[in-house]
Amino acid sequence: MTSVTPAAPASAVDSDPRSSVRHRVFVVGAGIMGSGIAAQAALAGYAVTLEDVSEELAARGRRLVEEALDGVVQRGKLAPSAREEGLRNLDVAIGLRRADSAEIIVEAAPESLELKKRLFAEIESVASPQAILATNTSSLPITSIAAAVRDPGRVVGLHFFNPVLAMPLVELIPGARTRPEVTEAARAFATDLGKRVVTSRDTPGFVTSRALAVLGNEAVWMLYEGTASRDDIDAAYKLGFRHPMGPLELLDLVGLDTALAILDILWDGFKDTKYRACPLLRTMVAAGKLGRKTGEGFYTHPTTPSVAGGTA
Ligand code: NAD
Repeated sequence: MTSVTPAAPASAVDSDPRSSVRHRVFVVGAGIMGSGIAAQAALAGYAVTLEDVSEELAARGRRLVEEALDGVVQRGKLAPSAREEGLRNLDVAIGLRRADSAEIIVEAAPESLELKKRLFAEIESVASPQAILATNTSSLPITSIAAAVRDPGRVVGLHFFNPVLAMPLVELIPGARTRPEVTEAARAFATDLGKRVVTSRDTPGFVTSRALAVLGNEAVWMLYEGTASRDDIDAAYKLGFRHPMGPLELLDLVGLDTALAILDILWDGFKDTKYRACPLLRTMVAAGKLGRKTGEGFYTHPTTPSVAGGTA
């Protein structure tokens, strides 16, 4: 198992060998998305610290970054030396303390407003006053998350896609009180990572999660009602619409818990029955069948969760 670097005292920051790198990025939550964002930023030359709540989860985050980079090397899109250099820019941590030296903090914890509000209040208490606080939320109102901090003008939505290294899009969502310079700094960061940025108003699900939630939920309803088999539903979307993945495959990649949370947030936000989650989705989440990250969803998967294998 890869060892976890212990938290550095503040005085050690100046002697950090990564201090020649342009900016320090602190990523909160080392799961599917946090590890992908960390991998992308480390490859772009940022000094990245990837954080989670336990040594085991932080170490798993590093493994996910390594796997993501391995996947890109294997596809011939990254030189092995660039992989090594990227990994030299990456550090992992337990807890938020080391967010104090970051200029950009990206939160990628689970999709819960209560959790994110608590986290942002904690992050603000540690972060430098100049740091930008970005959230990778798929669907929660940025303005509601920002309400948890003293300076909501520094909070912005920066929604990456899964798998981060393969997906060229980032959705940028200024909240009602986000300062324009914070929005522009977040745009510059995403652009520097090689992403195409689209801007959305701060409404539940923004553009992409709102579209995807309906598409995926409808596929689950069709499976639930016996309209067609799993494989035929996925084949219909792939061959009929040239989607690179079927919706049920995509739900397994996204995580059924995340997909359900997004639908519930859309329902809360719009009170429109088109966002009513299919009971099958709810039952599968209750049963722990979350997709790739737990090894079983609509399909079965190797047990190691991966951020590298998707093609969406
Ligand atoms: P995940 O479950 O894979 O990872 C979440 C990580 O956060 C876990 O490692 C967990 O241990 C950690 N965590 C939990 N509580 C924490 C805390 N208090 N402090 C620090 N870390 C904590 O989830 P994910 O799929 O990576 O989703 C993360 C965020 O990104 C969510 O807001 C989700 O909506 C969004 N998102 C997900 C996808 C996707 O395809 N999965 C795509 C775009 C955006």
